Amino acid sequence: MILLDVMMPGLNGFEVLDILRANPKTRNIKVIMLTALTQVEDKVRAFAAGACDYIGKPCETAELLARVELQLNLKRTEAALRESEERYRDLFENASDLIQSVAIDGTFTYVNRAWREALGYTEDEVPRLSIFDIIHPDSQAHCRELFQRVVAGEDITIAEIRFVTKHGLKIEVEGSVSCLFENGKFVRTRGIFRDVTERKRMERELECYRNQLEEMVREKTANLVMVNQRLQREIAERKGTEKRVLQRNQELAALNAIAQTINQSVDLNEVLNNSLDKTLEILNVRHGGIGLLDSDAQCLASAVVRGIDDDLVQTLLPWKVGEGILGRTVQLGEPLFIESAIDSPHAHPQALGFAVSERLRSVMAVPLKANGKALGVVFALTEGNRVFTPEERNLLVTIGHQISTAIRKDQLFTQASRTQRLEELDRLRTALVACVSHELRTPLTSIKGLASTLTQSDVAWTPEDQREFLSIIDRQSDVLTRIVGDLIETSQLQAGIMKMEKGECFIPKLLDRLASQLHALTGKHRFEARVPIDLPPVHADEMRIGEIITNLVSNAAAYSDEGTRITLEAEAVDGHITLSVSDEGIGIPPEYIEKVFDQFFRLESGVARRKGGTGLGLSICKGIVKAHSGEIWVESEPGKGSVFRFKLPVMNGHGS
Ligand code: ADP
Repeated sequence: MILLDVMMPGLNGFEVLDILRANPKTRNIKVIMLTALTQVEDKVRAFAAGACDYIGKPCETAELLARVELQLNLKRTEAALRESEERYRDLFENASDLIQSVAIDGTFTYVNRAWREALGYTEDEVPRLSIFDIIHPDSQAHCRELFQRVVAGEDITIAEIRFVTKHGLKIEVEGSVSCLFENGKFVRTRGIFRDVTERKRMERELECYRNQLEEMVREKTANLVMVNQRLQREIAERKGTEKRVLQRNQELAALNAIAQTINQSVDLNEVLNNSLDKTLEILNVRHGGIGLLDSDAQCLASAVVRGIDDDLVQTLLPWKVGEGILGRTVQLGEPLFIESAIDSPHAHPQALGFAVSERLRSVMAVPLKANGKALGVVFALTEGNRVFTPEERNLLVTIGHQISTAIRKDQLFTQASRTQRLEELDRLRTALVACVSHELRTPLTSIKGLASTLTQSDVAWTPEDQREFLSIIDRQSDVLTRIVGDLIETSQLQAGIMKMEKGECFIPKLLDRLASQLHALTGKHRFEARVPIDLPPVHADEMRIGEIITNLVSNAAAYSDEGTRITLEAEAVDGHITLSVSDEGIGIPPEYIEKVFDQFFRLESGVARRKGGTGLGLSICKGIVKAHSGEIWVESEPGKGSVFRFKLPVMNGHGS
């Protein structure tokens, strides 16, 4: 602060004041004039030159100090005001929002930097602008309406306006507008806006994307719906196929089970029973049956049934072909399906009552036939409301084929085994004739010849010759007796009437009794018997067992060379006693191993021919062993020898 006198030599106070004011550095220094010049013009001049006070001399120090104090306070207040204004100006200037103040005539009283930059005007150009210069034609009407509302006193907190820049670009702003009144009079509008052009563009882009997306979603959804529908259709089709495959599988499994049942047994009755059980199980019904025709196919003569009274079946059989549902099925040779059995005009009157009482509903009947020939009928019935499905009907038709095949197989089998039996009988008859003609003739011829010789009256035989002839006759008679004995035993075995006198039989004791006979048979061989004396007894006909042993030893001697070894052994193993006769003879070719036990079977070989025989010995042995619940078999190697073995169960209570 400067206290400045006016009347000074050289440069007066007014001139100093002018110099101070002219210099920017000193322009703001407060100057109080202190002068004796107290004319009003002087005072006016001083104030006009920029003095802040004017004190006339003489003046009291206290007044001077008070005035200086006042000026200093004023200066401080001004500085604070300036600073505050500066701060606000700075705030407005540097705000990123667009700030404007518009006078009543539409000119701008203030715009900030952001505003200028956004609209492209310089500070100098702004005063020449009107608010309507910067409002886009699109927004003019809207702005006029906003202006009226603001002037009417409304504060508009959200306004969306489009400005146009100096260069004709449209910018979109969003902000608030209010009005300043002083003493109830409109002074100016204040507006603060934010440039939302980018945001709006993005929003529009977003909207566009959203629309595109929605469109895509709609398209995709439509596609998906289509794909979904196709999938649904495919799934439904697949499910249908799966169901059919499953059904088919079940049918196949069922048929397989029936086929197995049929193959497992050769007994027709068992096959029919098992097949029927399986069929009813597969169809899940309780009532059904299989009826078989008699030999001249006139009526159903026998039947296996389930769920139907035996008494009723007996009264219904024989069931004439053509009668009732079953008889008609056989007659037509076609499957018959009747939805309601009791309402059928073909229902058998006697079966009707039963059907009503059992609440039987639908019936299916399938004819059984092979090679066009009727064999019978298979049928099944449902209960309650259930009706057979077409699949179930087809299944029964297929089952019908299977059962027909089984019946036909049985018929063929019966026929075949009858033929086989006839052939076997024929073979035996031929063999018997051959045996009788050959084996009986040889000793008979010799007996007859010698007897004739002895009875010749014209020849006188010496006593020695006569004894020799008689002893030959005696031996040949034994041969005849043996052959006849074999034949009788064979026929007894065949008829199942061979008497077995079973009792406690000790093998070592039996062998003791047979010793001399066995030694006689093997006189020209090295015979050895190896039998433990503590063998447990067998429950057997001792005489018959002895017969087997002598037969085997006799064969061993007959079919091996003199001087070779023949061994008889016995041992107890696993509750059985096994006896074996081994030789070092000609042996048996593998293809005849089983056959040697057949009746009348003889191997044609030189040595074999040497031994007279009927081919009945081993078959008789087999028959006797079987009658004792035992087994007989042979192990042999041609040229090396044979081992015949048979085993008999040890007598109860005598473990091995
Ligand atoms: P056969 O009265 O002919 O001896 P078998 O029934 O006892 O009747 O024997 C049948 C056939 O078995 C004999 O003809 C013979 O070919 C053969 N055979 C039996 N035992 C033996 C053996 N130990 N060695 C070789 N072949 C044998």
